Amino acid sequence: MKKHFYALAVASLALAAPVVAQQRMAQQPALDQLQAVQNRNCATMDVLQAQLATDPAMAQRMANIEAQTRVFEANPTARRGTSATVIIPVVVHVVYNTSAQNVPLAQIEAQIRVLNEDFAKTNADASLVPAAFAGAAANTNIQFVLAKRDPSGNATSGVVRRSTKTRSFSSNDFVKYTSKGGSDAWPRDRYLNLWLCNLGQGLLGYAQFPGGAAATDGVVCLYSSVPGGTASNYNKGRTATHEVGHWLNLRHIWGDATCGNDLVSDTPTQQTSNGGCPTFPKVTCSNGPSGDMFMNYMDYTYDRCMYMFTTGQGTRMNALFATGGARAALLTSTGGIAPRTALSSAPAYSLFPNPATDVLNLRQGTTSVNASVAVYDVHGQQLKNVRYDAASGQVDVRALPKGIYRLAINDGQHLTQRSFIKE
Ligand code: ZN
Ligand code: CA
Repeated sequence: MKKHFYALAVASLALAAPVVAQQRMAQQPALDQLQAVQNRNCATMDVLQAQLATDPAMAQRMANIEAQTRVFEANPTARRGTSATVIIPVVVHVVYNTSAQNVPLAQIEAQIRVLNEDFAKTNADASLVPAAFAGAAANTNIQFVLAKRDPSGNATSGVVRRSTKTRSFSSNDFVKYTSKGGSDAWPRDRYLNLWLCNLGQGLLGYAQFPGGAAATDGVVCLYSSVPGGTASNYNKGRTATHEVGHWLNLRHIWGDATCGNDLVSDTPTQQTSNGGCPTFPKVTCSNGPSGDMFMNYMDYTYDRCMYMFTTGQGTRMNALFATGGARAALLTSTGGIAPRTALSSAPAYSLFPNPATDVLNLRQGTTSVNASVAVYDVHGQQLKNVRYDAASGQVDVRALPKGIYRLAINDGQHLTQRSFIKE
């Protein structure tokens, strides 16, 4: 029944799409003037509707992703280990018309830091989450690293800088094409593409959901929304947190409808978006006593007033990295691994006992290793029934038949391969 409901939801989006797409086409002329951002304005849903209108197969792809997400959510044993961390290599395309738009490396690094804190619940303001929601606030176990290897295998800083004649971009995706004054995307199965540029029409950013076209996959943010940027109230880097949430399949928390559904069970239903900094509790749609979760990154509040993802949102995002998940290819990306140093300075891991019968311990010195770990058999087939728990540093190998296996350890800097025997 649930499956049908979500398929219907996507289908009704598709039906509504043509009108919206045309309205957007009519307003495409780029605006020249700089505009102060008055309210958080994210074009992700507009872009989705325009894409559904031009790409009829996209609704089916998204329905398939929803179905896979439902399976993942319903069956905890099928889950990718909740303490295993996904590390996503990021390429930042800085597309600038003025020197102010040419965001310095220090601010890009600060943006990556904010993403990592927000997705790991290590953000300092996580302590502001009201007690009523504290139990739902979650570490998503998703992390980000600037790319160190480009698509051709060469060393990179993870930042591509392109001067443009375009004074202001819109949500028409021109920024994603070198031929249109922007910068071409890197392969989405190996990188998260993050474009920083000037956006007109008061836009802070927009993202493409899983299921869209490869050439436009990624996230676009207003250049001044990075930490320390000039977009007042929106310059702590939370625009990127919000947009990357969409890129990882999160909907707006109000479900983009009156008392709508964001497809996440532990976020309260709320009437519409919240702006600014509301006072807790704000009760709508009979969601009392705790009310709207307006401090969620997927609402529209000021950067300083949003500081949590929920467990349910984390699970929804992690479904993309499970078996058959739309972004699972990123798990084996070498984009975060520097080309020269990969072999020479690979970390010295110890693996014991080897042979193993119940658990295999993975250590660097005496500490457990915080990395994504995959197990392969001698045929190169990945085994999904073994999990690595980063907290304990253990791989549970009880489910494995006796034999020789290979462990691929990706710490975001190095991809290291080790063998072990299951007895
Ligand atoms: Zn949004
Ligand atoms: Ca919800």
